[in-house]
Amino acid sequence: MFVFKTPFETTYSNLPSIFFKEQLPTSIRKPELVLFNHDLYRELTDHSIEISNEEIASFLSGNKIPEGAKPIAQAYAGHQFGHFTMLGDGRAILLGEHLSPTHQRFDIQLKGSGTTPYSRRGDGRATLRSMLREYIVSEAIFHLGIPSSRSLAVVKTGEPVYRESTHQGAVLTRTMSSHIRVGTFEFARNFGTIDDLRALTAYTIHRHYPELEEWPHPALGLLETVMKKQLDLIVSWMRVGFIHGVMNTDNTGLAGETYDYGPCAFMNGYHPGTVFSSIDRDGRYAFGNQPSIIHWNMYALANALLPLFDDDAQKAMQKGQSILDAFEKDFKDAYQNMMAHKIGFSSSSTEINELVDQLLQIMQSENMDYTNTFRGLLEEQSLSTLRSVIPDWWRKREELLSYYNISNEEAKAEMQKVNPAFIPRNHVVEFVLDIAESGNLQPLQDLLNAVKTPYIPQLNHPSWNFSPENHDKEYVTFCGT
Ligand code: AMP
Ligand code: MG
Repeated sequence: MFVFKTPFETTYSNLPSIFFKEQLPTSIRKPELVLFNHDLYRELTDHSIEISNEEIASFLSGNKIPEGAKPIAQAYAGHQFGHFTMLGDGRAILLGEHLSPTHQRFDIQLKGSGTTPYSRRGDGRATLRSMLREYIVSEAIFHLGIPSSRSLAVVKTGEPVYRESTHQGAVLTRTMSSHIRVGTFEFARNFGTIDDLRALTAYTIHRHYPELEEWPHPALGLLETVMKKQLDLIVSWMRVGFIHGVMNTDNTGLAGETYDYGPCAFMNGYHPGTVFSSIDRDGRYAFGNQPSIIHWNMYALANALLPLFDDDAQKAMQKGQSILDAFEKDFKDAYQNMMAHKIGFSSSSTEINELVDQLLQIMQSENMDYTNTFRGLLEEQSLSTLRSVIPDWWRKREELLSYYNISNEEAKAEMQKVNPAFIPRNHVVEFVLDIAESGNLQPLQDLLNAVKTPYIPQLNHPSWNFSPENHDKEYVTFCGT
């Protein structure tokens, strides 16, 4: 029996053949289950897993293929750091699509399962450390209430993976509502025919936004809808201090989910220029640049969809532009509204926006912790310290709260919902990964437990709530390892 009782569907394979290549995973020496996400499995199936760990490991390593499945590697292109290039699943294989009990469709993908026709010079493999890291951060983002891919399992391969040094190999099972990317549309536009582009657009609309099928201009509706989804996603990242780290167009999904957890990290001390990724030397994907980058990525999507906006090229440009032009104002409104909630107000106003800006300026110049400062506004034990650090700001906020007739209790209730008390901090993530690599999974399990309830203070590991001084100065994250 396979991990899932119901056979996979394969609707993606009904697209024109340029969009994928049939590809079996490469079998591995010694599959061993390291993590299995029982909560996620229950959401996907409505029951508990009924097969042994050995069987799970042989399926979710790609050693055994479920009967009737037709695994594929997907084709896509993308702008990487602004440069257009052909990509595709170089180390991922889509096993199939699973329908949940609520009829939601999920891609079930193996990551690190061997080379494909799109591997270029890559080895198709992934390290245990990077797959465990993706598991932790994707679960954290999901439990923070932010749309995300999820991690169903990590299976060790028992084989070495060669990077700058030798690592243990692993395969991650990733679930996501689809892997259709801005880069998939760029691929269709640049390497396919107009019919290929039409087919992909119709498929995407049908799968994610069927309501658009009734619209007079579905392609324009798609751009507008995706832009809104991405705008909301980035506002959520900004809310929790998340830096994706590699917002290339192949890592921007049409369904508006966070995915490709490579060099991502949570910010500790507030600074909009925060960058951790080793390859992001110019800070293109820095914390504070994320809104303008997603706007840029939406230009890339519009450019790919352009022929579908209008037969007349000039008119097509105008139509696309008028949608893209709304981004700045819409983003600003959504961002300011979110930040107002973070300091206890139910919507933004000029005075509240100023108050937010002042706080961010103080936080930046004093290198104050992003998560703990906002959370500190509502936790009794940190309030007195915070009040003494920012007495003038505190007084202004009290005045504004009473001006808007908001009680401290009401403010607290607003803030509790949006200001996390716990994020997986960089030093903690690295610590649990070091220990997990040597075979002890307990600290990792503790961390996975803690990220499940991010809006409740975590009391079991007090040192996990603060970043050690200057830790982040030296902290570097790596892509695609
Ligand atoms: P990412 O940085 O994960 O978004 O990947 C960018 C591109 O590089 C995608 O086409 C990946 O499939 C490919 N890639 C990353 N790592 C590997 C690898 N080890 N082997 C083959 N392709 C890879
Ligand atoms: Mg990618």
